[in-house]
Amino acid sequence: MTTNHALECAAQAREIDAIYRAPALHWVGDGFRVAGYFSAIPDAVRKLDPFLLLDYHPEYAYSPTNERRGVGVHPHRGFETVTFAFQGSVAHHDSSGGGGVIGPGDVQWMTAASGILHKEYHEENYSRRGGPFQMVQLWVNLPRAHKMDPPRYQPILAADMGVATLPDGAGLVRVVAGEYRGVRGPAETFSPINIYDARLSQGGSVEFSFPARQTAALLVMQGDVALGGGARATANDFVLFRNVGERIAIEATGEAQLLVLNGEPLREPVVQYGPFVMNDAREIRQAFADFSAGKFGHLED
Ligand code: MN
Repeated sequence: MTTNHALECAAQAREIDAIYRAPALHWVGDGFRVAGYFSAIPDAVRKLDPFLLLDYHPEYAYSPTNERRGVGVHPHRGFETVTFAFQGSVAHHDSSGGGGVIGPGDVQWMTAASGILHKEYHEENYSRRGGPFQMVQLWVNLPRAHKMDPPRYQPILAADMGVATLPDGAGLVRVVAGEYRGVRGPAETFSPINIYDARLSQGGSVEFSFPARQTAALLVMQGDVALGGGARATANDFVLFRNVGERIAIEATGEAQLLVLNGEPLREPVVQYGPFVMNDAREIRQAFADFSAGKFGHLED
C-alpha cells in the first residue's frame, strides 16, 4: 500500500448503516423508563460487537417519593454494565462490596465477569426531592479470556473524566474510555474501546476517526446534528455506522449532546440468556447452576 493510498483511506468518510428512532419506552423495575435501541436493530450482536445493549432513559421528571425506585437484587455474568448519570442520581450495591452513588456527569463501570449480584435504584435524597432524571446503561461484552475474571467496580466521577476542549468554542469531548486527541479517559477496559460524551455548542463541529474494521455508533441525546452527505439526526436518534471509511464529521445545528461508541469487535460467539452472556450454551447452564448454588455471593435486598 502506498503512502498516498493510506492517506486517502484515512480521509474517507464513514458510511452510515442506518439511523434508528427511539423504540417504545419500557420500564426496568419501577425506576428506569428506557428505550432499548439494540433490540430494534437487525443483527445487532454482530454489528455492535463488543456492545450488547444500550438502554437510554430520556429526561423524565419523577415525583418525590419515600419509596425506593429501581431494580432489586439480580445477577450478571460474562460482561460489564456501564451506567452514565446525566440528571438525577443513581445508587448501586453489589455482592463484591462495590457500590456508590453517581450524579450528573458520573459513570459507574461494573465488571460482572465471573458473577455478581447487584441492585440499582434512585439515590434516596434525589428520590425524596424528585425531579428530572436522565441516564444510559450500556452493556459491554468481555473477551472469552476474561469472562471468568473476578468482578471489579470502577467509580468514574465527572471530575476525573478526560476533557478535550474543541477549537473555535465548538464545545468539548468528555472521554470516559479510550482516547481523543491525546486526552485519555479513566475507564480500564478489556478490549480497545472509546466512549465519549460530546457536548457541542450551536454551530460547533467535531470530527472522530475510527478504523473501518471497528464498530462505531452514536446516540443523539440532545439537539440536531448534520453528519455529512446530507444525513441529519436529532434528539433520541441512534446512528449506526458501516465498516466502511473512518472519518465522522459532525456539525451541531443547535446545542447538542452525543454519546459516541467505538470498539474493536471481539468476533467471538455470543450466547445470551437474560443476565448472562457467554460463548456457548454449556456456559449458560453453568451460570444458572452457579447462581442457584449461591456462588455469586450474597446481597441484602
Ligand atoms: Mn443489572
